[in-house]
Amino acid sequence: MRKIGLLTSGGDSPGMNAAIRAVVRTALYYDMEVYGIRHGYQGMIEGDIFQMKTTDVANIIQRGGTILKTARSDAFKTDEGRKAAYDQLQKHGIEALVLIGGDGTFRGAVEFFKQYTIPAVGLPGTIDKDLSGSDFTIGFDTAVNTAVEAIDKIRDTAEAHDRLFVIEVMGRDAGYIALNSGIACGAEDILIPEIMTDIEDVLCRIDSDERRSKSVHILVVAEGDEFGGAAEVAKRIIERFPKIDTRYAVLGHIQRGGSPTYADRVLASRLGYAAVLALRENKTQVMTGIVNGDITYTPFQQVIKTNAGISTDMIEMIRVLSV
Ligand code: ADP
Repeated sequence: MRKIGLLTSGGDSPGMNAAIRAVVRTALYYDMEVYGIRHGYQGMIEGDIFQMKTTDVANIIQRGGTILKTARSDAFKTDEGRKAAYDQLQKHGIEALVLIGGDGTFRGAVEFFKQYTIPAVGLPGTIDKDLSGSDFTIGFDTAVNTAVEAIDKIRDTAEAHDRLFVIEVMGRDAGYIALNSGIACGAEDILIPEIMTDIEDVLCRIDSDERRSKSVHILVVAEGDEFGGAAEVAKRIIERFPKIDTRYAVLGHIQRGGSPTYADRVLASRLGYAAVLALRENKTQVMTGIVNGDITYTPFQQVIKTNAGISTDMIEMIRVLSV
């Protein structure tokens, strides 16, 4: 195959540009043409497609965001939308696709390829690290490092004022960012969607920390926690302990931006390179990933949301290390 289409879809993640660069450069090296599709599946429907040169990806390996832009597309969830997308691929003579995105992007791919036959390879691009088929996803390492830097700063001011801080990090369905930033920042507790939180337990631990007069208390909460995030948790703490100076902070979209860490750049480069080689070797309808250091290929149907790797042992460890 000579002409490949390339898109980023769903939530952006730092390192998508490094992945784009790797795909484009590898494809050009093997005499393929690359067509960038802007704004994910929506751009495919609208035919927002342009031929990419090697200079288009110069000086982007270190940049957050995605030069191809990304979007969520309701139209792609309809038969008409997917038909329009396929027609555009035909019109531009695109013979294969490389898709960079998260869980939704792969669900969309499964629907699309039920109806239309075109070789495709995916790359896991999400800060959430919640996809099966890869130990890490592009953007996760950067997002955790951003959260760690921010929480460290909040800890400084919390300590100065003897405050308790509830800090909300991203993760609507996944607690990996909360778990890992919580461990790295020495949080007293973390609340994540995967593990049922008993708020009474949380309050009880705060009470005993108070009696031991800990000067600073940090709780890291994933946005998808059952209590509705940091504001709600802080409210419960204030109701129970009106004398503790309790504040909350929501880190928000800073976790999606910024220059990718070396780990995300290397991951994105390896996966982008592997994706084009996979197409050349006719390994298609798979997502490239890295498991135990090796490149793997997981069929799109099996790329599902997962919370493997989150165990109650880790939560217990956080509590032991913060005594
Ligand atoms: P992410 O890839 O980051 O998880 P989304 O969940 O927003 O992001 O998914 C990206 C896009 O994939 C959606 O906007 C939609 O166009 C497409 N998509 C998701 N699920 C489906 C589906 N079941 N059928 C068709 N398209 C889908």
